[in-house]
Amino acid sequence: MIDLILRNARLAGRDDLTDLGVDDGVIVSAGPDSAASEVIDLDGRLVTPPLVEPHIHLDAVLTVGQPRPNVSGSLFEGIAVWAERVADLTYEDVQARVAQVLRWQLACGVQHVRSHVDVCDPQLRALRALVDLRAEVRGLVDLQLVAFPQQGILGFEGGRELMREAVRLGADVVGGIPHYELTREDGVESVKFAMALADEHGLRVDIHCDETDDDHSRFVEVMAAETIRRGMSGRVTASHTTAMHSYNSAYAYRLIRNIARAGLHMVTNPLDNSVLQGRFDTGPIRRGHTRIKQLREAGVNVCIGHDSVMDPWYPLGYGDPLQAAFVLVHYGQMSGDAELRRLIDMITVGPAAALGLDGYGLRDGGPADLVVFDAPSEADALRLIAPRTLVLRGGKVVARATPAQHTVTWLGTQEPVTFLRR
Ligand SMILES: [Zn+2]
Repeated sequence: MIDLILRNARLAGRDDLTDLGVDDGVIVSAGPDSAASEVIDLDGRLVTPPLVEPHIHLDAVLTVGQPRPNVSGSLFEGIAVWAERVADLTYEDVQARVAQVLRWQLACGVQHVRSHVDVCDPQLRALRALVDLRAEVRGLVDLQLVAFPQQGILGFEGGRELMREAVRLGADVVGGIPHYELTREDGVESVKFAMALADEHGLRVDIHCDETDDDHSRFVEVMAAETIRRGMSGRVTASHTTAMHSYNSAYAYRLIRNIARAGLHMVTNPLDNSVLQGRFDTGPIRRGHTRIKQLREAGVNVCIGHDSVMDPWYPLGYGDPLQAAFVLVHYGQMSGDAELRRLIDMITVGPAAALGLDGYGLRDGGPADLVVFDAPSEADALRLIAPRTLVLRGGKVVARATPAQHTVTWLGTQEPVTFLRR
């Protein structure tokens, strides 16, 4: 007798149905005759390993409109508004806002989160609050914290020392923002500084890189070169890289080969970048995101990040990676049959690799961490932004949803509506 059997699950990437057994927190095989304390018939619903959020700014969540709204909606006005809001940060303010959004993420099936944390604050208030929260929620939602210099490393007074202090306080990952430094040379130097700091402490790297429409912003080539030289393949992520959209194709070809050789992970952030990029174009307006399809063809791991939840850069969102994937279907033109399935990989196995998660995935003997979608396929999950009816962590139910029931009165008869093709 085992603890739980989930019957008729449809695992991501497969067409047949399977039974999943759970016992003592791990996945075990279950046949038609197996007995369990609890049996749940999933009736063909999609099951995936936990969703993984590789790029969010938790310290800024739920601050939209504070201390003033971002009137233009632009990236630069967002940075200016945030610099004002940072002045009011307190330990309690950060913890309360983040704890609320972590609950939202857990309800969406997210169990691993990499958050950038602005360290351009001499007191490092947000980082201290998040380091403590990380310890509190470990095993429920696992946090990786990136020391992120929003105002630059060389261009912000005491920037280098703040980065070192952030690592001493317990940052898991070293960040950067080379395109925001004062000069190209400073940008190159900031990448080298971040990679050296990470290498010295055995940490990972995740740099906001070339998040601009300027086709002369070419810092991801420096990241690839440093990764190759230092032998840090697999431990380095380049986030955003929106300038790549505007590079000439000869340069992009050479660059993508080097990114693949370096084993960089890439994170694209369709929610924020769909509204922030192309702001200086009068028409046609460039989409301004990274070259997802070419990177994937070269074998590069490209992941989807949510980036913002109700902050000065993006006023919407509730932390659901599926919403970001839905936008990427359109914005990245990923509506092909196989691409719809791949989008689910880009919020699960892809970011799990970028974060270096050990033991991730659904397999016998592995942790019973999983997510059930109220949809029979990847395409339907995306189409409906389907509720996550059941989220398990270590075999325990940590989130549940009761999907809304819709009825219509159709020509005099009341009928249920499911939005599913039967
Ligand atoms: Zn970001």
